Amino acid sequence: MAYKIEDLGFELPDLPFAYDALEPYMDEETMKIHHDKHHKAYADKLRGVVEKHKELLSKKPADLLMNINLIPVDIQKGVRNFGGGHWNHAFFWTVLKKDIKPENSLEVIKAIEKKFGGFDKFVEQFTNSSNTFFGSGWTWLVVNKYGELEITTTANQDSPISLSQKPLLCLDLWEHSYYIKWRSDRAGYVSNFFNIINWEQVNEYYKEAVGK
Ligand code: MN
Repeated sequence: MAYKIEDLGFELPDLPFAYDALEPYMDEETMKIHHDKHHKAYADKLRGVVEKHKELLSKKPADLLMNINLIPVDIQKGVRNFGGGHWNHAFFWTVLKKDIKPENSLEVIKAIEKKFGGFDKFVEQFTNSSNTFFGSGWTWLVVNKYGELEITTTANQDSPISLSQKPLLCLDLWEHSYYIKWRSDRAGYVSNFFNIINWEQVNEYYKEAVGK
């Protein structure tokens, strides 16, 4: 059952597609472990941290991440790591789908072509950012605080929503997201990612972000 990212609470949402839906680009075994173990651990640990200030359980994880410097100091680090892990993964699942072409009838594709000088240039830049990123983190396409499209990376489980950015698309660069199938071949994983982007959902995020 699909969920809307703005409704995300502290519980682990169901994966919005079958575990094998992204084969062969993302394999079933990876998806099971990634969602049922890794994502679940972030959600569970986040709840454990926020229970120290139970009144905050009435908020949404996104609210806490967007106001990370205003929440109690003793849980800031836990919210940043586990809240980021929970929200980032929940967002990631929503932008994955096979067989959605980046048609330039979509507003976001037109905007990408304009910003990056062509869709291929965008792919190249997103790929380079992903392949050269050191360690564990994420690559993002965001609308930045100036209203511009930007490719960024975040380390660990840091989330762009803590930086007043509006995410449109992301790619998990942690080894747990590709090691079973791709082993050390991050570049193979990254190049295959372009087969499973849900451009229709990315377009919805773009229209919300720029107020269209
Ligand atoms: Mn992950």
